[in-house]
Amino acid sequence: MILAVASGKGGTGKTTVSVNLAWMLGSDVRLLDCDVEEPNAHLFLKGSMTKEEIVTIPVPQVDESLCDGCGECGKFCEYHAIVTFGTAPLVFPEMCHGCGGCAMVCPQKAIHEINKRIGVVETLQAGNITLIQGRLDVGSAMAPPLIREVKARLQKGLPAILDAPPGTSCPVIATLRETDFVVLVTEPTPFGLHDLKLAADMVRELGIPFGVVVNRVGVGDERVHVYCKEQKIPLMLEIPDDRRIAEAYSRGELIVESLPEYRGLFLNLIEKTINSKNVEVG
Ligand code: SF4
Ligand code: SF4
Repeated sequence: MILAVASGKGGTGKTTVSVNLAWMLGSDVRLLDCDVEEPNAHLFLKGSMTKEEIVTIPVPQVDESLCDGCGECGKFCEYHAIVTFGTAPLVFPEMCHGCGGCAMVCPQKAIHEINKRIGVVETLQAGNITLIQGRLDVGSAMAPPLIREVKARLQKGLPAILDAPPGTSCPVIATLRETDFVVLVTEPTPFGLHDLKLAADMVRELGIPFGVVVNRVGVGDERVHVYCKEQKIPLMLEIPDDRRIAEAYSRGELIVESLPEYRGLFLNLIEKTINSKNVEVG
């Protein structure tokens, strides 16, 4: 089972849910930190890095002696990463998605590809958890290709938990694709509800079953609960607004280690997600 943990906005407790779930599984699990602009799951795991792999994408390089300035490459590139003004094109590697299309359409075969580094994939071992995290290079905007590299390290037959980037943009979609179930983490506040609605619409569009975890129950109001009930979205877990949880978080500790009384809640969430085949797409 591949479970993704996502949220419509940052700071809702998405990583907290991901790492505590992974720990509570108690058997071999892959935890993929797909929040490649700001990976932080490693802060909660006591382990050591076993591997670091450089990730590149192919970007075009133009042989000006062959180029006749026809402009076909610029017309093809929807990202405006290669532009022509009747002369040999200018390439903007930081905007290139590495699709290879410009090289394919060039009639003069004037374009070949060179590898451009976008970040690294790091592997850490912490007990039963194999943490695989992407780390985007500063200045690189190519999160989706790096996320795909992280996901390429899923192991068939081994359960996996994917910690998605916050929001509803392309990196989130790249993370959620081909997962079995999505847990949307939110807070019971008007902002939480607003972003939950956007995230729920996105997951519905992708056709993936999903449920909601409400964090910091006790602050805010009941509107998130009412929304879930009205929309028939399963409420998978409620984490109370407990100061001790915030303190454990700030020390980089897992809730289930520091506050064992919460283990039952996360076990319950695991059971619900394992049985999620019976959960309707909300
Ligand atoms: S490889 Fe694709 S994204 Fe990059 S410049 Fe060429 S057409 Fe544009
Ligand atoms: S398609 Fe090829 S020949 Fe035409 S402008 Fe681009 S690089 Fe030059």
